[in-house]
Formats: sequence, C-alpha cells, structure tokens
Amino acid sequence: MFPAVLTGRTKKNRRENNVHQENFRKKIVKYTIVLTLISAVIIASSVIVVVAVRTAEERSYTAYVDSLVSEYRLRFEEQMASDLETLHLLEALMEKGLLSEETIVSDQVRNLSDSFSFVKVGYYDIHAEEYEVHLPDSDRAYEFANRPAEAREAIRSAWEGETAVSQVYEENGIQTITYAVPVYEDGGICGALTAIRELDVFCDIINSSTTTGDSIHIFWIGEDGSVIAASEGKADPEDGSDLILLSESAGRTESSQEGISRQTVRWKGASYTLYCASVGDNGWSLIYIDNGKEIHSPIYSMIILVAGAFAILFLACITVIIYTYKNTKKDNRRIRSLAEQDQLTGIENLSKFQQETDMLLAENPEYCMAVINFRHFQYINDIFGMDQADELLVETAALLKRVLRENERCCREKTDQFYLLLAETDEERIRRRLEKILEQISGLAAIFHKNYTITLYCGVALEKQCANREEQRKRLLADSEFALKMLKNGHGNEIAFYDQKMHEEKQMSVMIESSRQEALENGEFHLYLQAKKDLRTGRISGAEALVRWIRKDGTMIYPDRFIPVFEKDGFCAQLDLHMVELVCEMQRTWLDMGMEIFPISVNQSKLLFYQEDYIDRLCEITDRCGIPRKYLVLEILEGLAAENLEELNRTIFRLKEQGFQISMDDFGSGYSSLNILSGLEIDEVKLDREFLLSMGTSREEKQKAMMRNVVQIARDLGIRTVAEGVETETDEKFLREIDCSYGQGYYYSRPMPAEEFGKKFLHQMV
Ligand code: C2E
Ligand code: MG
Ligand code: MG
Repeated sequence: MFPAVLTGRTKKNRRENNVHQENFRKKIVKYTIVLTLISAVIIASSVIVVVAVRTAEERSYTAYVDSLVSEYRLRFEEQMASDLETLHLLEALMEKGLLSEETIVSDQVRNLSDSFSFVKVGYYDIHAEEYEVHLPDSDRAYEFANRPAEAREAIRSAWEGETAVSQVYEENGIQTITYAVPVYEDGGICGALTAIRELDVFCDIINSSTTTGDSIHIFWIGEDGSVIAASEGKADPEDGSDLILLSESAGRTESSQEGISRQTVRWKGASYTLYCASVGDNGWSLIYIDNGKEIHSPIYSMIILVAGAFAILFLACITVIIYTYKNTKKDNRRIRSLAEQDQLTGIENLSKFQQETDMLLAENPEYCMAVINFRHFQYINDIFGMDQADELLVETAALLKRVLRENERCCREKTDQFYLLLAETDEERIRRRLEKILEQISGLAAIFHKNYTITLYCGVALEKQCANREEQRKRLLADSEFALKMLKNGHGNEIAFYDQKMHEEKQMSVMIESSRQEALENGEFHLYLQAKKDLRTGRISGAEALVRWIRKDGTMIYPDRFIPVFEKDGFCAQLDLHMVELVCEMQRTWLDMGMEIFPISVNQSKLLFYQEDYIDRLCEITDRCGIPRKYLVLEILEGLAAENLEELNRTIFRLKEQGFQISMDDFGSGYSSLNILSGLEIDEVKLDREFLLSMGTSREEKQKAMMRNVVQIARDLGIRTVAEGVETETDEKFLREIDCSYGQGYYYSRPMPAEEFGKKFLHQMV
C-alpha cells in the first residue's frame, strides 16, 4: 500500500539527508581547522619574519643614519682641516722667507684667500708692542684690538703655539669664524697667521646630499647648545633647539663605533631619535633628529616585499577557502533542492513536506491534512498537451503557495497529487477553504483557453488523539489518502473526510491483506453456488461458483471487497485454483452420492492466463477428482481480450483442446467490442447484470436493443448466451422473447453454500 512505501521512502530520504548534513558539517569543521592552521602558520611566520626583519632593519637603519651623520661630520672636519692646511702652507712660506708679512695682505695673497673663499687673511705679530697687524690702511677694523673676543682668543692661542679655530661670532651681521696658526722665526713664535671664514661653506655642507643620495636635516649646535646653523627646509620638529634641550635631560645614550651618540626622546607625543656627532675642539656638534619618516633603509623595501608576499599568500589562501566553501555550499544547496524540492513546480516534495509536518505538529498538533488529486489527468495531458499540463501543475503549486498561511505547507507527489497541511481543525471551516481552493484550481483552465472543466477530488484527515507527532503525521497521510481513494470513481469537485466508516473499511483492507494466506489454509474461503436456468427447458442446468470468505467469528466478506485487492498482487490466481479444486471436489462428492451433475462456471482472474503451468494445474485437479472437463466452465473477463487477443485465443484453444468450456463474463460492462465475439473461440457469453438492472429506467429501451442484438449475433456465431441479474418475471419474459439461452439471478436463486445447492437443485441419476 502506498502509505507504507511512502513512509519507508521518507525515512530513507531523511536518513540520507541527515548523513549528507553530517558529512557537510564535518567538511566545514575540517576546512575551518585547516584554515585556522594555515592562518596560524602564516601569522606566526609573518610575526617571526617581521620581528627578525624589524630588528635587522632597526640595526641596519641606525648604522645607516650613523654613517650619514658621520659623513657630514667628516666633511665639516675636512673643510676645517683644509682651511688650516692652507694657513700652514702660508706659514711655511713665511718661515722660509718666501712670503713677507707685507705680502700677506698684498693682492697676490688676497687672490689666494679668495680662491679659498676666506674673507680675509692676516698676520698678527707677537713682538710688536701693540700687536701690530699687517693690514692695509683701510682695514683698521681688523686690528687686534678691534677683533671680536672669539677671534682674539684664537689668535692668542696661536701666539701660544696652538692651531686654533675660534667660536662662531657675528661680524657685519654675518656669522664668521677665525682660524689661527702660529708663525715661527728662528725657532720661536713670531706671530699668528689668521683667516676669517664665513659659515656659508659649512651651510653648504649641511644642505648637501650624502654620497648615497640622502639628504637629512642637520642642526649645527654650538658649545652653549644654541643652533649655529641648520639645513634649509622644514624639519620636524621645526625648531630642533627644543628637542636638543630636551635631550639633555633624556635617558640612556648609546654610542656607535663612529662616535655618534644616540638618544631616544619623546616630544609632543611622538618619539624621536637624536643622532649626535661632535665636531672639532670647540664643543660643536652636528645633530640629526630622526622621526622615522625621512629616510628609508634599504632593508625597508625588503620588509615591504616580504610582508606583501605574505599578505598575498594569506589572501590567496582565504580566497581558495572561501571559494571552496561557497562552492560546497552551492553544491549542498543543489543536492538539498534535489532531495527536498519538486523539480517541476519548485515546491517541497513529500519527503521534505513530512519533515516540516513533524516540526509543525510538534509545536502545535491542531492541524488537518488534505490530499488533492486531479480527475482524469491523463485526459488533461491529452487535451492540454504535456507542456501545458505541466504548466497547470506549476500554476496549481503557485496558487496553493498563495492561499496557504505562513504556518501551513504543501507539496506535490505522484504527478497530479498535492498534499496540504492546514492549520485548521474545524470541519466546516476546512470544507469551506478546500471548496474555494478546488474552485480556484478548476478556474486555472481559463489561463490555457481550454474549454475543459477541470475537476478535482480531495481527501481530508483530522487526527486528534495520537501518541506522538510522527504517529500523527503518518496517520494523517494514510487517512487522507484513504479518504481520497474513496472518491476516485466519483464526478465533479468532491471532498471526503476520513470518518469512522472509512476507518472500518480501512481496518478491513488491512485485515484482508494481512490474513488471507492464513484464511486460505484454514479453509475460510467457501464455495457458494448460484443456479443458472435453461430458458428453453425451464430447468436449472448449471451454476456459477462464487467465493465467500467466512471468518472464524462467522462474519462473511463478499468478493467485491477482497477480489480487487487480491487481483493486484497475484493472490487471486491462488484463490481461483482453490475454487476450481472446491468445485471439482464437490462434484466428485455428488457423483459419488449418485447425483446427476451439470457444468459449473468458475471465475478466473487474468493473472492465471499468464501462468505457464495454468492448464497443467487445471488438468491435474480435474484428473485427481476424476471429473470430466466438460463440467467445468472457465469465466474470463472481457478486459483480458482487450489486452492481447491472439495470445488469449491461443490459451483458449489449448483449454478447449483439453475439454474445458470458456465463458466471457460481464460482457457489456466495459468498452466491449463485438469483435471479441467473432475473434475469440468462446462457448458462452454472459451479459452483464447492468443490462437487466437498467429495466424501468430511461436507458431501458437502448439496453434492451443492445441485448437483443448481442444475443442475435452470439446465436449466429454459435455462442450460448447467459443473462446475469434476472430478478423478475418480466426480466425472464424479455429474455425468452429475445431467445437468450440461460438466465442467472436472484429470481431463481441467491448464491448459496454448495451443499445446500446440491440438496436443492440436484437429482439422483436414473
Ligand atoms: P460475477 O462473476 O459477475 O458474479 C455475479 C455476481 O452477481 C455475484 O456477486 C452474484 O451474487 C451477483 N448476482 C447474481 N444474481 C444477481 C441478481 O439478480 N441481482 C444482482 N444485483 N446481483 C446478482 P458476488 O458473488 O458478490 O461476486 C461479485 C464478483 O466477484 C463476481 O462477479 C466475480 O467477478 C467476482 N468473484 C466472485 N467469486 C470469485 C472467484 O472465486 N474468483 C474470482 N476471480 N472472482 C470471483
Ligand atoms: Mg462470473
Ligand atoms: Mg458476471
């Protein structure tokens, strides 16, 4: 039965879904762990590399800055050394008498001083009473007494035999220094040779670039800490003096091999490193204040490169992982959509619907389930065409989605069947809603401009008392489907609620399916016989075997209830042969009792005709019971002929060869064709009881005409005719009138137990 299969499949789907979700979860955990590990490794190596590179960079940077500062100092010292060397040269010339004191101020020397860019070169005699200075008359300003104190001090040092450079002083508004060297005569000092230099040459030095092309902002600081000169342009801090003062109170000072001392100070919230190089003997120093922005060490670009490479690598890893994750998620979504979605309409499939139902029922059990099915969807397929029929299903799904509330669900299964879980338990409200829904679906035909009335039927189930939600869902599904089945052969839009009567019917179906084998073994299937009257002689001259299932408790079940079920799964073939056996055994008993027997018809399901050993088994039964085969009439249904006439004829031929008689049952009940009569080698045709049951209705005349014609054709073809459902004298009269051979019906006898039949209708042989 469908619900059982459905439940099995649902479980399987759910299991597969769970396994899939678990696998996906594991994958994500795995990816996350791998990502975390990769990230950790990348971050750790980046930190190590950055720290190592940073330390190296710092070291190399300070060494580099040291080298820059010492280059400026060197240039300063070279400049001073070269100036003093020039003076020493002049002094040597004087000593050797090649240059007189007077010549010093001559144009010749002036030219010389110009070429060394001295402001003035002069000679100050130590022996002159008033420190005579050899100067042109106009240069009285350069007399010793008129010289600034700084210059006089340098000159005095030279008189004392030292080479001296004065402190910076201002002369005529220009910052200047004086060089002084002693001049010797006969082993003793006779005077001092001096040269005055403006500071522009030193300013040029601090404004020039180093050999590596870097130019840094240098402060030239005097003995008292004041700024003598600074590189042009803005420095940070602009006024280095603040910082320099600060540096005096700052902490630890480091010194490099080149004699550069370094101090780190904080100023206005920023950190600065002061590089300080002392120059000459005057307490001067060159200071560079590093703010970390001005210079880049060569290793800096390497750090950038390494950091960049790591960043790119990290980004690549992240991208790969995100890409993989997204792809997996997409795949997962696709798989889930395949597992959970109806691919045609896009709504949920039954498996997903059941999961959702369980969830909703767990929150609130106040739900009902409805199953809607289209009537004759195969016609819709033919009339609309496959594409439009599909479109109709899509539109139906969309309509259902629209009319359902947020806490309600629907799904499609089995082509044209839709399931609805409605948050309703009041029968009247449910009926009203469903009627409207069916009406709206019927109305969809208008979209396709088809003059065809779409009709639907719908089964509804309400389950209020259930042990658990899964049980409730299973029962809702099974019961609504059962209610739906009850409407299958109806007309128009119909709704059926699963009720007590249906419940009993369902119980019965379950019982029929589960206990039939046991019933067969226990002899619960009994042989009933219904008499057939020969209308010409007026005598009972035949009977039909009809099965009755009488259960242990005495309840009788009629074949209409169980034959259709048995026909579906093959059990019917087993039962039919059992009936043949019962018939033959009964006839054997009657023969043994010396009774006169006549042919008995046994209904044969079509399944038997496809069994290879069918004829052999029939023969085996008749032979075992010793019954001549002409006493057995095999009733087959006309539907069988419609399937494969040739094959059927071959079996009929073989059966007749063995002596059995063949009767075509229920002729006229389906889409009968008279060709069957001419095409099949049958002995008898039974006119369906519907013909006679229509007597007294509007169809009477037509049915009569048909019976008359069928009987006539059959007679012409040499086939016996039997009319079923003879209930009245009028029926019999009409049958005689049309010359029908036999009559069978309640008018003569109801089906009765075989023994009772024997007593009533059989006679002793004479
Ligand atoms: P059927 O072969 O056409 O059997 C005739 C049915 O019509 C019987 O119903 C019988 O009780 C009923 N009937 C007889 N006279 C009258 C009458 O005057 N008026 C009305 N209204 N009905 C009448 P039953 O016994 O319920 O059997 C129903 C069907 O079940 C049979 O139709 C037959 O197709 C099937 N059937 C019965 N026994 C067997 C069996 O052993 N094997 C197979 N395969 N099918 C069987
Ligand atoms: Mg029959
Ligand atoms: Mg019949």
